[in-house]
Amino acid sequence: RVKDKGGKNYGMYTPDMTVRLEELMELEQAMRRALHNQEFQLYYQPQVSLRDNKLIGVEALIRWHRPAQGMVSPGDFIPLAEETGLIIPLGEWVLRQACIQACRWKQAGHPAFRVAVNISPLQFRQQALAEQVLTLLQEYELEPSWLELEITESVIMQDTAAALTTLNRLKQHQVHVSLDDFGTGYSSLSYLKHFKVDMIKVDQAFVKDVSQDQDDATIISAIIAMAGKLGMKVIAEGVETQHQYDFLREEGCDYIQGYLIGRPMPAEQFDAWLEQWQAACPNIPV
Ligand code: C2E
Ligand code: MG
Ligand code: MG
Ligand code: MG
Repeated sequence: RVKDKGGKNYGMYTPDMTVRLEELMELEQAMRRALHNQEFQLYYQPQVSLRDNKLIGVEALIRWHRPAQGMVSPGDFIPLAEETGLIIPLGEWVLRQACIQACRWKQAGHPAFRVAVNISPLQFRQQALAEQVLTLLQEYELEPSWLELEITESVIMQDTAAALTTLNRLKQHQVHVSLDDFGTGYSSLSYLKHFKVDMIKVDQAFVKDVSQDQDDATIISAIIAMAGKLGMKVIAEGVETQHQYDFLREEGCDYIQGYLIGRPMPAEQFDAWLEQWQAACPNIPV
């Protein structure tokens, strides 16, 4: 974008940049304090099977309650956390918190369902990540079936060898890895051959217009067919309507996640949701 405007301004100092830099530095400081002051919280969004409507997992999504500003969405601070490296301690906090919650669910007697944690590229490239995950599982006495890591295509593209090592180490220990926002990156499909992830998450952009846009419908069908042949599961994100639900079920999509089923919510609220869901949602005959 910068280049399109002539390219001459690139790298040049402007007053605008001072303002932006100051804002960014302030936000970074605020994030550091927030981690210390426990202003972060994990919300959990249900994922269910299209075969029998049963809960198969939840995605952990971070929330930041800023005392003065109210709720800040992750889109507004995760990118900066990634840029500044703060994502490392923040990501560690998220992983531990997810394990603590999984441990609570386990102790409450739930059969295992996966708690999916978003792992940023910088975090996934840390050599210690796999060991860190395995140590956490031990610490909270969790089977690997309680955890899933979500990575994006960019992780694979940036440092393929390191990413592959981490992936294989996790695989060895049955920790599932899913590919988030599938179809929106710039990667080529050939990496799926080497990167045998357990699940593909079809980006909500494709799901959104599936009722009106034949191309999006075609792309989703193709992803489902391809994933099936590669032995990977498919989950569709951002499912909001019955029409989208029917389409995805018809096409043989494995799982769905979206407002139609449930919004991201705090753990206590999720517990109430799950109770209602299990009571009100008898199995659909296959
Ligand atoms: P994501 O991993 O693709 O998460 C899905 C996003 O879609 C979430 O936004 C979720 O609230 C939203 N969503 C779910 N169902 C629906 C739906 O039916 N309709 C619509 N319109 N949206 C839906 P959220 O929570 O704002 O998170 C945004 C992104 O921030 C996430 O995208 C993820 O990339 C990142 N993120 C969130 N939590 C973490 C975290 O703990 N660590 C890292 N590294 N990134 C995170
Ligand atoms: Mg995700
Ligand atoms: Mg996603
Ligand atoms: Mg996303």
